[in-house]
Amino acid sequence: MNNIPLQPGPTYGPVRSRRLGWSLGLNISPISYKLCSFNCVYCQYGWTAVHTLDSTGRLQDLPSVDDFAKGLEDALRKDRPIDNITFSGNGEATLHPQFAELVDIAVALKKNYRPLARLGILSNSSSVTSEGVRCTLAKLDFRVMKLDAGDIETFSRINRPCRGVDYNAILDGLKSMDNVSLQAMFVDGEIQNVSEREIIQWIERISEIRPINIQIYSLHRPPAASGLVGVTEEKLKEIAARTETVTGITVEVIIAASPYSERVHQPWRCQQERKN
Ligand code: SF4
Repeated sequence: MNNIPLQPGPTYGPVRSRRLGWSLGLNISPISYKLCSFNCVYCQYGWTAVHTLDSTGRLQDLPSVDDFAKGLEDALRKDRPIDNITFSGNGEATLHPQFAELVDIAVALKKNYRPLARLGILSNSSSVTSEGVRCTLAKLDFRVMKLDAGDIETFSRINRPCRGVDYNAILDGLKSMDNVSLQAMFVDGEIQNVSEREIIQWIERISEIRPINIQIYSLHRPPAASGLVGVTEEKLKEIAARTETVTGITVEVIIAASPYSERVHQPWRCQQERKN
């Protein structure tokens, strides 16, 4: 199976999902290669082509402020429903050197054309070590931040960060943010983050960060690495139940192809919560 193609422009969709409604994606990464501070073994776009925390030397490949503003305004003016607008795309959005400016533009355009839509981001969390990035993220309606590992060894194995990414500083950054959601991918097989030790440590980090909610999922698309196996729905539900019991934080198990999928989504709440 092949990885999915890269997004071809600064906006993509909107596509319909049962969970998010109509979602418009914002891609502020290059359109011809993946630029990311991580090289996750499960990445649906394949291996990272440019693996860095510093994209200042890649400005010519990134959407300019003007192109982004025009592309987003055109997308928002079209007569079609949009419930969510989400920075995501071909890599890590916060790496764009003008990320703060692009967020300000998106906030203003959303307010003007789609005041009821929610503007947010799916981020790998690598930039939350920067106070400036955290301030920019705070301007969004929602922040879904990645945390797949409860210890540095698992983090290195699953997310393969580039030089300069500091796992402990990421944890500190996430702890200092208000109203943050976490998202975790669990995988099994030759590389895994679902053994008893990994799950216990991941739940410990969740207890320290105290996000407002958590989404967990497993492989829905062909991963970059071979030898990976998806985690069963039953196992994901077990992780969710354990996490909710220990932390009191709601965990949603995502059983769908992706947040931008038309496939059926089955939100799940733990047995304990159903009984209450
Ligand atoms: S952070 Fe996202 S885009 Fe980057 S390698 Fe991981 S899954 Fe792919």
